Amino acid sequence: MRTPLIAANFKMNKTVTEAINYFNEFKKLTADVKDVEIVVATPNILLYPLVNIVKGTNINLSAENVHWADNGAFTGETSAVTLKNMGVNYTVLGHSERRQMFCETNETVNKRLHNALKNGVKVIFCIGETLSEREENKTIQKVTSQITEGLKDITIEMMKDIAIAYEPIWAIGTGVTASSQQAQEVHAEIRKILNSLFNEEVAQSTRVLYGGSVKPANVKELMAQDDIDGALVGGASLKPESFIQIVKFK
Ligand code: PEP
Repeated sequence: MRTPLIAANFKMNKTVTEAINYFNEFKKLTADVKDVEIVVATPNILLYPLVNIVKGTNINLSAENVHWADNGAFTGETSAVTLKNMGVNYTVLGHSERRQMFCETNETVNKRLHNALKNGVKVIFCIGETLSEREENKTIQKVTSQITEGLKDITIEMMKDIAIAYEPIWAIGTGVTASSQQAQEVHAEIRKILNSLFNEEVAQSTRVLYGGSVKPANVKELMAQDDIDGALVGGASLKPESFIQIVKFK
């Protein structure tokens, strides 16, 4: 019922030349992929030269963040209007690196989310707990507040354009993956939160991705869990030959 979504997050990696070479290679590898939605988030500055390369392929480009205003005096920020005009239909929002290093809060993520959706840009909305929060049994409390505040004033209709990425911070870029049971437990809780905020249909139809050291060796087991609908992949997405194995997890 939920189409798997496998997304790459390049973070602040690759030059224009490296990105062009990657996509020229990667698009050949994805040509026979069916029934999986593929998204690749790159640094916003790389998106424009990539739009033409992915045209007519099954690869969707994504930004890594967008601002909450359409335009204006916001030096250094990226507008969802510009992205949409360029042909970019996705953005990641609320990534833990943005929250931890760039002062993003649930409130600013919520404002960015509203503006992205208003402009027709779909969102991969990231949430997740720190190691100390997990050790203090505060995981569900943390994701509940991130979802409740991050999705403030989001309607049932708008939820069609949002995927949630559960990314335990202790598993991002560390090589430590949450076990498939640990991930499944939180994903099931996320559906309960969506049910109480919206309804059972939203809870069952929203795609919930797992992120945190996903690699070819562990993707199959993660994707076999009932409530895991995809992956957000950092390090293992940087080489086409590695990322394609994750895309072709079946
Ligand atoms: C990420 O960047 O969202 C991520 C999960 O990174 P990694 O796969 O490298 O842990």
